[in-house]
Amino acid sequence: MKENIKKTGICPICNNVMSKNNRTGEYFCEICNEAYVKRATCNKCGKEVELLSACGALQFFCNTCNELKSKKSVNLFFKKK
Ligand SMILES: [Zn+2]
Ligand SMILES: [Zn+2]
Repeated sequence: MKENIKKTGICPICNNVMSKNNRTGEYFCEICNEAYVKRATCNKCGKEVELLSACGALQFFCNTCNELKSKKSVNLFFKKK
């Protein structure tokens, strides 16, 4: 069975376009030979927020501020797995 791979996301180290595995939600950079996961931090307190995907729309929850965040009020980044 073929894996569902999509070219998306930019590697935080080398700026290469990474492949996303839709099954695991992980990103893989062929140049770094490294797997990354998408994470986000709250733009108010700077703490890592939880990723909630409700109805296909990306939403985030900050446990520190105790509030729901939209994509615009968080900073997305890739973290080494
Ligand atoms: Zn890379
Ligand atoms: Zn916060």
